Amino acid sequence: MGIVVQKFGGSSISNPELIKNVARRIVQAKEKGSQVVVVVSAMGDTTDELLDLARKVTANPCSREIDMLLTTGEQISIALIAMAINEMGHTAISLTGYQAGITTDNAHTRARILKIDPERIRQELDQDKIVVVAGFQGMTDAGDIATLGRGGSDTTAVALAASLKADLCEIYTDVDGVYTADPRIIPKAMKLRFISYDEMLELASLGALVLQPRAVEFAKNYTVPLSIRSSFNECEGTLVGEVKSVESCEPVSGVAHDLNVAKIGIFDVPDRPGIARNIFYSLASEQINVDMIIQGWVRDDRNDIVFTVTRGDLEKALPVVENIVKEIGASGFVYNDRVAKVSIVGAGMITNPGVAANMFKALAKEGVNIEMISTSEIKVSCIIEEDQAIKAVGALHAEFFE
Ligand code: ADP
Ligand code: ASP
Ligand code: MG
Repeated sequence: MGIVVQKFGGSSISNPELIKNVARRIVQAKEKGSQVVVVVSAMGDTTDELLDLARKVTANPCSREIDMLLTTGEQISIALIAMAINEMGHTAISLTGYQAGITTDNAHTRARILKIDPERIRQELDQDKIVVVAGFQGMTDAGDIATLGRGGSDTTAVALAASLKADLCEIYTDVDGVYTADPRIIPKAMKLRFISYDEMLELASLGALVLQPRAVEFAKNYTVPLSIRSSFNECEGTLVGEVKSVESCEPVSGVAHDLNVAKIGIFDVPDRPGIARNIFYSLASEQINVDMIIQGWVRDDRNDIVFTVTRGDLEKALPVVENIVKEIGASGFVYNDRVAKVSIVGAGMITNPGVAANMFKALAKEGVNIEMISTSEIKVSCIIEEDQAIKAVGALHAEFFE
């Protein structure tokens, strides 16, 4: 008998009626003959509400305690889902991340899964039970609860599917699948029937929050077949899998945007070996992730370096940059946290010339100024003014899909 892992996000279980609806879908899968492992998020906006609660108590909550607090959200969900399934005449058992054998590193609020021991889950499945696991959480080797970063239940589901060698991992959410752009912003966005792991990884990393990027990484590394679909209807969703040949891929599969971006520029950086290392090593030592980096043309042995970080990291980054400016003898720095990143992603881009040019043309036609550009084999991203982000996504969607 094959194993199927089903993950339900917060909006799919935001009230008791929806919890019963989800329980019915789970029972259907069981009655079709699969062994079913369910992963759930916290109900509705519970995680945000718990974060607000913490901020009312202290401006600087310690990350270990944040994890202790936030994981209560998922614990409520697993108990209620298990109760609803039991009420329908099947036997379910709820398990926390620890009980499900998930060990993480100790990077609280953004931990990574280190290993999974699926023994307990297997035992419960062998007793014909439906196993309901709390998403987004695991236990460190020191015995502390840790969370996997926002959206982390996706990663729990895919990691469990990999570890249990499941036939399929289904991600149930509030949209019918992966679209050519966020359907909440672009009503004309179209559902994709299939998308490759690589394209999905780029889209998710570039702001399409429908899947956590680490979940896609797991799926790709362990070749877990993924299906993204709606908990509210029976429509066929989007399959995420391996692509056979780049030639058969679309030049552009999707448009993504990310408002969680801040830009920092350092002026008149001395042009000698080791300087870039000093700047980015100092930022890395403070656990600050740098995304785009652009170094300008050298003039009089000096040039400018501009890079982006997440807005959440900006406050931490500024004192580091201030120090480094003094240390290397640069003339100063500026920052702007009102920028956004818009991107196009497509595995067929590499074999189709002119895709980037068309992107720049579409932005120019709408009067959107491009501040930074970065490219890879399957994506082009531009940093623009935050206020123009939605207009820019609309223009790019119209250019490539309408
Ligand atoms: P869940 O609570 O189920 O985890 P999320 O809110 O994390 O759901 O993810 C689903 C949301 O992702 C959708 O409501 C949609 O607005 C957003 N989204 C962003 N980009 C895309 C895209 N390209 N395709 C589908 N959904 C997208
Ligand atoms: N509840 C967590 C969050 O809101 C995890 C998840 O939904 O995947 O980020
Ligand atoms: Mg999510």
